[in-house]
Amino acid sequence: AEDEADPEELARREYVAGYQGVWVFVEQTEGEAARVSWELMGKGKELAAKLGVELCAVVMGHKVEHLCHEAFTYGADKAYLLDQPVLEYYRTYPYLDALCHLIERYKPEIVLMGATGMGRDLAGAVATRVKTGLTADCTGLDIDPKRNLMQTRPAFGGNIMATIMCDRFRPQMATVRSHVMPMPAQTAGRSGKIVHASFPLSESDVFTKVLQVIRDSKAGHVDIAGAEFIVSGGRGMMAKENFAILQELADELGGVVGASRSAVDAGWMPGDRQVGQTGKTVRPKIYIACGISGAIQHLVGMQDSDLIIAINRDKEAPIFEVASYGIVGDLFEVVPAITATLREL
Ligand code: FAD
Repeated sequence: AEDEADPEELARREYVAGYQGVWVFVEQTEGEAARVSWELMGKGKELAAKLGVELCAVVMGHKVEHLCHEAFTYGADKAYLLDQPVLEYYRTYPYLDALCHLIERYKPEIVLMGATGMGRDLAGAVATRVKTGLTADCTGLDIDPKRNLMQTRPAFGGNIMATIMCDRFRPQMATVRSHVMPMPAQTAGRSGKIVHASFPLSESDVFTKVLQVIRDSKAGHVDIAGAEFIVSGGRGMMAKENFAILQELADELGGVVGASRSAVDAGWMPGDRQVGQTGKTVRPKIYIACGISGAIQHLVGMQDSDLIIAINRDKEAPIFEVASYGIVGDLFEVVPAITATLREL
């Protein structure tokens, strides 16, 4: 009742009511959507249902209309499409201008993006331009009784989970990493409405030019975020060469090798293999942690794996608290023994 009389609160409600709908930015490269965009579609659907509003996909690029149809199969009710040559390759400025244009015109209450290189660049720039807040790397999203988006993310080095709200500004913006939200089921043939938006922007308006696209054909590049089986090593591996035993086990499983930050910092594994808060979030079917103590910053990146097997010679190691199976022992004996057993099967 107090709130009712407060003119500031009434003004806030009126302003907030002018924004409607949950948007998911569909990140694409050469016409292929990033997995995280569809994961966000699943979460976005849940939030839109709680708010009683539409779930909308935002598709930008050139010759990308097919992504609107794909978005419908993942639950979008509507898709805003900006399809023009200037948006063919991601560049901050045309995308920033284009997305801000859509936000200012259609006023969504929530905008979600993947915490990818592109999403991190774009989300911060858009939030600044439209004068709203942004919570990066959220691990949980929900709606509070006042219809605000509750954005939960680890803070203080992962030691606490902070829930952040942006109750005075719209849209409410958040980025989420890949593999944090589950992939929603697809409904083939589901359709929705495409809003063909247009925006007067031509190549001559953009300062950065794409001269050539060189594909990353770096041999040995692996996507640990999408792997079904991960064998990770930590400081307990003692040396770079010792990762060969993890690779053998990973090969046997058809999986990949990951690492803790200590192993990456020691130069034993490349940075794109790091699992954890400042590395990748993974959700494999099986995660085998070898010589990894289980610091909270590592756990946040892998604790949602379907099955966790920990090998550590310290029975008090915190990794055992999240492990489905724990082996207290020397990894240099245990790992080759598992590999040998699998080979016999
Ligand atoms: P340790 O903690 O040193 O553990 C090594 C383990 O190996 C020990 O438990 C030991 O018992 C075991 N061991 C040793 N020899 C053997 C053997 N022969 N057989 C079996 N077990 C053995 N860490 C990450 O991993 N990812 C992140 O993204 C990340 N982000 C961070 C962000 C911030 C802001 C901060 C502050 C820290 C972050 N960290 C991250 C670091 C994290 O706090 C830990 O320092 C790190 O995870 C420890 O790595 P580790 O488990 O490999 O090493």
